[in-house]
Amino acid sequence: MGPEEQREFYLPDFSTGKHTGAMALTEPDAGSDLQAVKLSAYQDENGKWFLRGVKRFITNGNGDVLLVLARTEAGTKDARGLSMLACKKDDTIIVRRIEHKLGIHGSPTCELQFNDTPAELVGSRRFGLLKYVMYLMNRARVGIGAQSLGISQQAYEEALKYAKAREQFGKPIYNFPVVANMLIDMRVTLESNRTLFYNTSVWLDKKEAYEDLVEVYKAKKQPFNNINEKLKEAQRMTNLLTPITKYILSEASNKMTYDAIQIHGGTGYMREFAVERLARDARITNIYEGTSQLQVVAATGSVVNDVLTEYFDNWEKKEYKGSLNKLKDCLIEIRVLFIDALKYVKEKKDAGFQEVAAKDLVELYTYVYTGYLLLDEANDNQKRIFTAKRFILDSLAKARKNAESIKNELYSDILYADTILI
Ligand SMILES: Cc1cc2nc3c(=O)[nH]c(=O)nc-3n(C[C@H](O)[C@H](O)[C@H](O)COP(=O)(O)OP(=O)(O)OC[C@H]3O[C@@H](n4cnc5c(N)ncnc54)[C@H](O)[C@@H]3O)c2cc1C
Repeated sequence: MGPEEQREFYLPDFSTGKHTGAMALTEPDAGSDLQAVKLSAYQDENGKWFLRGVKRFITNGNGDVLLVLARTEAGTKDARGLSMLACKKDDTIIVRRIEHKLGIHGSPTCELQFNDTPAELVGSRRFGLLKYVMYLMNRARVGIGAQSLGISQQAYEEALKYAKAREQFGKPIYNFPVVANMLIDMRVTLESNRTLFYNTSVWLDKKEAYEDLVEVYKAKKQPFNNINEKLKEAQRMTNLLTPITKYILSEASNKMTYDAIQIHGGTGYMREFAVERLARDARITNIYEGTSQLQVVAATGSVVNDVLTEYFDNWEKKEYKGSLNKLKDCLIEIRVLFIDALKYVKEKKDAGFQEVAAKDLVELYTYVYTGYLLLDEANDNQKRIFTAKRFILDSLAKARKNAESIKNELYSDILYADTILI
């Protein structure tokens, strides 16, 4: 997004690994709500930019290059006054504090004070949050999805290894159906999440490739309507899939690491085994780069507008092999549950109710989408039938609960929050 000479200044040392970096967005009063960022950027009489203020919870904040979200338009209070600036580490940046954290001890999390730090504007003024952070977020969400998947994979492997080795009542605990069932759940979650993750990554790659292509065509002054259509579709898909992927995979890594501890019994609670660390590391995944609640907020618009409706229609028309058609019927049933629940929420015309119901709606939508991805895989490869079957049947049971929570008015309780929360 910056000019060529700026890229030359910062990027080569990044790509060789000589320089490390950090993304400094969060402040004490601006976490989920980044519009509230206060750190100020001002210019001297020569137009040179400087940064003044505090950032909090910055991963690798002691890095060589910092990308900083700052308020360049004095007196503004919302996103339109924020721009992106870059600066190199120097004596004007003080690491005021290194946090003592529950997990991810491999990276320092810093509180930074900028004391008139020389900086450079990156891209266009006022687009810091509206454009660039949003752009970064797509990649960051998929990145945390990958982190969550990696943690989940190790949790599963550790649990499986331990269950085969540990004997109780004269046999490996692996042979107890309840333990085996937990492991199967973990394996199916891992595989279905990996499928969702790869699909999202493909859409993100496509989006970025089309963006580049549009620029090439623009430069050549050639028509690009056809590519623009494809770009719009890829944007629609990534807008939905990146928050969904981050939400589902990070929550799953929390559950899976806790289940892995459970399979280890008391041993899992001890520091000697990897699973307690995995659980502590997993705990951040549904908090940073946007909490799960904020991922649901980010996905809600696409879900309420039913952006996948054409995809679902096409999948419903498709003939699958043998018993897979029964699984398709389950996905059709989940979709009906989704449509009914969405209609119910819309007709209620209650913004608060919709905010609470959004989680169920997003989950219902995700079951259908991931379910069809798995069904397609199973159609092509017999080995995937088990995962598709278990995921879809489990999703149907969960979907009934999601839909009932909405239609049974469970969430109307929020109207009385002040009397209940005493
Ligand atoms: C270890 C670690 C590393 C980090 N690294 C970085 C980094 O490198 N760069 C950076 O800029 N930041 C970083 N962060 C900050 C991180 O992104 C924020 O902590 C996170 O976005 C949440 O903000 P917050 O902590 O202020 O929580 P808050 O925004 O105060 O949220 C508190 C609770 O309220 C909920 N909530 C808030 N708003 C809403 C809403 N509209 N709807 C529903 N629920 C809502 C949240 O979901 C959460 O449960 C890091 C944080 C940690 C802990």
